[in-house]
Amino acid sequence: MISSVSILGVPFSITYHDALSDVDSGGQIPLRGQIDLQTSSIRLHKGNNLPAMFSIIVHECIHALARELELGFQDCEEDVTRVARGITALLLDNKLVDLEAIFRKETGEYPDEVDL
Ligand SMILES: [Zn+2]
Repeated sequence: MISSVSILGVPFSITYHDALSDVDSGGQIPLRGQIDLQTSSIRLHKGNNLPAMFSIIVHECIHALARELELGFQDCEEDVTRVARGITALLLDNKLVDLEAIFRKETGEYPDEVDL
């Protein structure tokens, strides 16, 4: 699985967690994904199928993009979710990303980084 993404040139590490409660860095709230803009890191629940995991990564990246591009909605979950849903559908519906390559498990050959 990918271990990092580059968001506007800034590398964000990705870590995968078994329990939803472990995704929350505070260990309090069950989450499927969380981004920490201060430490440039993304925490992801690994119990999702590939499209869902990809969608969550896109969602977390939108938080960072919204902040860096000063779009004004980086803290609005509803807006981030809508933009992420649209971008994810665009990429998946048109087969512009190869989920198997991003999350390849069989060979252990995981790409280190993907640009979104
Ligand atoms: Zn969010």
